[in-house]
Amino acid sequence: MNWITKKLFHLSQKIRTVIKKRPTSEEIENSDWISCCKGPVLKKELEENLWVCSSCNKHHRVSCRSRFDIVFGKNNYEILKTPIPKIDPLNWKDAKSYKERLKDAKKKTGMDCGIMIVKTKIDNINITAAASDFNYIGGSIGQAEGEAILTGIQHAIDNQQPFVIFTSGGGMRMFESLIALSQMTRTTIAINELKKNNLPYLVCITDPTAGGITASFAMLGDIAFAEPGALVAFAGKRVIQATVKEELPIDFQKSEYVEKCGFVDLIVQRKDLNNKIYSILSILLKKNSAINLTANETSEDSRTLTKAAS
Ligand SMILES: [Zn+2]
Repeated sequence: MNWITKKLFHLSQKIRTVIKKRPTSEEIENSDWISCCKGPVLKKELEENLWVCSSCNKHHRVSCRSRFDIVFGKNNYEILKTPIPKIDPLNWKDAKSYKERLKDAKKKTGMDCGIMIVKTKIDNINITAAASDFNYIGGSIGQAEGEAILTGIQHAIDNQQPFVIFTSGGGMRMFESLIALSQMTRTTIAINELKKNNLPYLVCITDPTAGGITASFAMLGDIAFAEPGALVAFAGKRVIQATVKEELPIDFQKSEYVEKCGFVDLIVQRKDLNNKIYSILSILLKKNSAINLTANETSEDSRTLTKAAS
């Protein structure tokens, strides 16, 4: 062994030790700690602050149930059942089969698909709401998720309620190929039906919202909120940089940057989401409770108003 091979041998040993020392994603998931700006933070402490870091204001990703608990109040919602198609059209397999990925995602999140639909209310406004879990195969959209969104919109139309969605995910699910891509069209058509019924459609963009999600239902809201610091993108920053051959700003594709370009109407802190959604909906539904305190309408009155407007 000459000196070069000796050096290489020691270097590879060092690399192996470093790699071995890194915890697996499962270990990170099961740990009581999560990493943020100042190092490890207790998950319990972060949860008490709505999963927002008190030092840097990072809005950490949350599960659908936590999202609904935060925005609508603990357990102040009913989860609606959505159809779960049994498909694996391409019989996809890479390092793992698609079927196995679905099984793991279900175990990890306790959900049957990546989107959860609920019926809920804020004060006197009945709402149908949807949220996506990034832990379910990166929040990607396949047929089951498309069906869930359609079920939610149908429920909103049947009950003459506004539809609110909290987006998060990398885009359309490649394991389902064209079937996943077609969910962009299906959800867009469904949202148009919602609009034909004069029902408000609010979008709250959370970190990260990208790809086909940004290219369809995430950008069609009557009002689009975003949480601070959320990634909002279609293609990735590196791809764009390589295409346009220009240095892009550091905050490129962050919600604050996207707001300046007009893609997002308002950046809303997580703790303020309930109030903001209520204010906007009360105006859009002409409930006026946010702007006219004399309003004493029941939800039935508002439905009449909405129907009259349509
Ligand atoms: Zn932090």
